[in-house]
Amino acid sequence: MSGADGRRKPLKALDEALSELLQFAAVLSEVEDVDTFDADGRVLAQDLVSTLHVPPQDNSSMDGYAVRCADLTPSCGVLPVTQRVAAGSAGVSLAPGSAARIFTGAPIPAGADAVVMQEDCEEIEGDKVGIRTVPLPGQWIRRAGEDITRGSSVLSRGDRLTPAALGLAASIGMSSLPVVRRPRVALFSTGDELVMPGQVAPERMKPGTIYNSNRFFLRALLMRFGCEVSDLGIVPDRFEATLQALKKAAHDHDLILTSGGVSVGEEDHIKPAVQALGSLDLWQIAIKPGKPFAYGRVQGAHFIGLPGNPVSSFVTFLLLVRPFLLKLQGASQLAAAALAVPAHFTWARPDKRREFLRARRNAAGGLELFVNQSSGVLTSAVWADGLIDNPPGQTIAFGDAVRFIPFAEVLG
Ligand code: AMP
Ligand code: MG
Repeated sequence: MSGADGRRKPLKALDEALSELLQFAAVLSEVEDVDTFDADGRVLAQDLVSTLHVPPQDNSSMDGYAVRCADLTPSCGVLPVTQRVAAGSAGVSLAPGSAARIFTGAPIPAGADAVVMQEDCEEIEGDKVGIRTVPLPGQWIRRAGEDITRGSSVLSRGDRLTPAALGLAASIGMSSLPVVRRPRVALFSTGDELVMPGQVAPERMKPGTIYNSNRFFLRALLMRFGCEVSDLGIVPDRFEATLQALKKAAHDHDLILTSGGVSVGEEDHIKPAVQALGSLDLWQIAIKPGKPFAYGRVQGAHFIGLPGNPVSSFVTFLLLVRPFLLKLQGASQLAAAALAVPAHFTWARPDKRREFLRARRNAAGGLELFVNQSSGVLTSAVWADGLIDNPPGQTIAFGDAVRFIPFAEVLG
């Protein structure tokens, strides 16, 4: 992009753009209690401290017989069975010289110090059991507090709740959880060429029109990252219409997210319209795909303008909007972990910008590239299972380790 004086604006490094963007993202202050069933993906607003041991008592990890080890020797292995303890019941103290029939999850009777699995035992008529092995003290006993000890913190403020974390919270008795409220996001697409699937059949598409694809993945991505989405549809490439859409969107939303119209062509009305209502910075970020990116404010709402090209839109969402949304919700883990994976391709003509190449793992544990890396080819993002983060000017030889960001890492 050229400045007013005709000089090219220097490109902004991605890391710099991200840290600036994150500085704008103040954590939303409202906390709400949500049912633990409904808290998947939400960000915890307080540490969770357990008021009990998990498991609460020593219990059996096998179906078998609870015994006192001292009663058993290689020559003497027959004991009377004096009680039966199933999961959900509590036994009585185990008298010396006896055994308790016990099942997985049942509390260990006081005095017993091992469980012998039923496969190593033999029922003998007259309520006796023959034990074929000499047990070791503690065997097949799950200790009280082995998972969680009373008073310990099991989950921390800023943790993004996963299905396993919901289970863990439930295991300490939490039926609801304090989480940061969902960000409210207004979404709209710009572009006179856009039509909605369902509105016009493929065979009736007018020349020059395309289906609006960004709207679908942006909406899904926003929802995946915990947002409440107001979808304001398609806004025509006119200043007045863009202004009206922005005014409407600023009301009662934390973020306005748009795609398209952030270049500086005559049909790109985002910049003047946002500036008329607030402020805007148009960034040229040194990444490919996804160079144009805008951040601004419209009457108290954050504004983020993504590029229109579908892959650019998708990639900049993952690299910049995702951490922004997580930060709004107070998440402590914002960066996506990259793995070192060998390239099973060569890349001879790298770009001057940092590239995010659509790639997928093959059965041999290497990465293959999608053939067409154009920013308009959304097929690449579906075929791929992640992005290779390739530094500026870096060629890649077959077998080189590259930085790979799995989609599973950033989309989960
Ligand atoms: P723009 O950033 O508005 O100049 O758009 C760049 C390219 O992306 C153009 O080819 C647009 O037609 C295309 N594009 C913009 N918005 C969308 C969208 N919502 N869905 C699909 N393609 C889009
Ligand atoms: Mg456009």
